[in-house]
Amino acid sequence: MSPQLLIDISALLASFLFIYGLKRMSSPVTARSGIVVAGVGMLVAVLAAFLYYFGVSEAAKPHLTTNTILAAIALGVGVGWAWWSGKKVAMTSMPQMVALYNGMGGGAAAAIGAVELLKTSGHHGALPLVVTIIGSLIGAISLSGSLIAWAKLDGRINGTWRVKGQQLINGTVFLATLVLGLYIALVAEGHAHPAVTGAFFALALIFGVLMTMPIGGADMPVVISLYNAFTGLAVGFEGYVLQNPALMIAGMVVGSAGTLLTLLMAKAMNRSVANVIFSNFGPAGDEVQGEIKGSQKPAEAGDAAINMRYASKVIIAPGYGLAVAQAQHKLFEFVKLLTDAGVEVKFAIHPVAGRMPGHMNVLLAEAGVPYDMIFDMEDVNGEFKEADVAIVIGANDTVNPAARTNKSSPIYGMPILNVDQAKQVYVVKRGQGKGYSGVENELFFADNTNLVYGDAQKVMVQMIQAVKSLDGGGH
Ligand code: NDP
Repeated sequence: MSPQLLIDISALLASFLFIYGLKRMSSPVTARSGIVVAGVGMLVAVLAAFLYYFGVSEAAKPHLTTNTILAAIALGVGVGWAWWSGKKVAMTSMPQMVALYNGMGGGAAAAIGAVELLKTSGHHGALPLVVTIIGSLIGAISLSGSLIAWAKLDGRINGTWRVKGQQLINGTVFLATLVLGLYIALVAEGHAHPAVTGAFFALALIFGVLMTMPIGGADMPVVISLYNAFTGLAVGFEGYVLQNPALMIAGMVVGSAGTLLTLLMAKAMNRSVANVIFSNFGPAGDEVQGEIKGSQKPAEAGDAAINMRYASKVIIAPGYGLAVAQAQHKLFEFVKLLTDAGVEVKFAIHPVAGRMPGHMNVLLAEAGVPYDMIFDMEDVNGEFKEADVAIVIGANDTVNPAARTNKSSPIYGMPILNVDQAKQVYVVKRGQGKGYSGVENELFFADNTNLVYGDAQKVMVQMIQAVKSLDGGGH
């Protein structure tokens, strides 16, 4: 079999595995195997790339030998780093990691574009050049934008950075980038001075930074997902430039999946994507916080647990703090005690609870919570008013009524879990910490709310003990 035929078959196989893997990722039951299937597809595609070496003429081999060795070294470093960081990353830092990997993908696509544009020969027509420019532009924006998103998620950059006339500055930089790109592709026909090509990339990177800096509050999930789509598109475009079908298909799959996720997330946040990117974002956090009336009333974990034990309906709103405390197993143990005592228990999942899409679903699945106990926000929100108790565990922004009422709040307009409508609300949190958006939460001051202070895992242990000792099994 000729190397070329083997490459073609590998591309077909890899593409099939990507699509099949993605299909399996659409359900939490099969998602884990979907990741493995897509990973095998990637392995096939990467190995196939090395087959090119055997397909070229003897004359071209020495040049390709150096490149192949360099590629193997880069691969070794990449695999080693990914293996190490993937093993040690905490669940709560996963979004940062996704943002970083995503940025790498965009950067790789932009680098392919840069190599093509800096080549002194071998440019074929306007269309491939325009495609190279578009792929480079999107890839570079995705690289710098994802790095800023990573820094924000990791707490290295705080708040939303805005300057007067931000939109005008952003628009000007974008226009200048576009003009340079069109000049390189259509006027210089791919033979622009390297300084011009360098300026094009520099401006695209700067635009990524400018576009991401003002975004904050509860909008980060949409932005991360948008950059995911960008990276996919960029890779797809550069796949066309390299005439590599596996790259094209992988890019298109990521691009379309990322676009759909972006639209779904934006819909869940009650925002349009344009609004997330271009709106004049309300002032951040405390800048707009009006005075909240009332006081925070503490409660003992044991008392709250007993109250739930005698309730007929309890709804749980989990959030980021549950993931930080890794309290999902203890929580489910507590829930089982309640259901054994005849209490109806439901989990209410906000689409952006935690720090990545599906974060709460992953945590609860890990603890073995059955899927029929877990409800999406829109399916369960009408039931809070019938609940005797709503218990908020490590959630904050996703249960903040200011999103409904306070027009100047950075989270205004985001749909929230209606926990405040339950007869009694317990909020489990360690102290006075704010949520991701940095705004105070009036729910904590409401008449029907009590705060159970403590790390979520420790509180769950106390709640389990309280119910067990009540029901006579307490050792
Ligand atoms: P929040 O980030 O709003 O609030 C988390 C709460 O958990 C804090 O009030 C904190 O209070 C408490 N907490 C932290 N650690 C513990 C612990 N060990 N035990 C008990 N409580 C703890 O969480 P939500 O899930 O409600 O909201 C998610 C936010 O993150 C949204 O604003 C969303 O937009 C944003 N986001 C979401 C992403 C996604 O894709 N899902 C991605 C990026 C951002 P205290 O310190 O007092 O304990």
